[in-house]
Amino acid sequence: MKYWRKPLDFDQVKVPHGEVHIIAERCKGCGFCVEYCPKDVLVMSARFNRKGYHPPEVVKHGECINCNLCEMICPDFAIYSVEAANGEVVPDAGDDRSGECEHPEPVASGAGKEDGN
Ligand code: SF4
Ligand code: SF4
Repeated sequence: MKYWRKPLDFDQVKVPHGEVHIIAERCKGCGFCVEYCPKDVLVMSARFNRKGYHPPEVVKHGECINCNLCEMICPDFAIYSVEAANGEVVPDAGDDRSGECEHPEPVASGAGKEDGN
């Protein structure tokens, strides 16, 4: 982006760097994250996940600005970014959680009710 004038704190502002994590087994290959990433960090990979979809992969390591847009836009909570420590960019960890969920499954409605209620 070209500024018509230079912001006063231009030299002090640092561009954040993010580390993208893709939970491939949750992905349904919609491509939203690829389409809307402002830095074109992602592409759809050629490999398949267990559901038969192509999950995204990181192609521009070090370009992620940790804007979290991919995380917000993903309908399946299959991608997220975290701030890289000290501006250091760690290569994509890939399917680092193998679809495992840290949170318990939601309780189905009516579960736990006594019979006859
Ligand atoms: S956090 Fe932003 S820049 Fe990084 S991969 Fe997601 S959409 Fe792209
Ligand atoms: S937005 Fe989510 S579900 Fe869609 S391709 Fe990206 S990671 Fe997969």
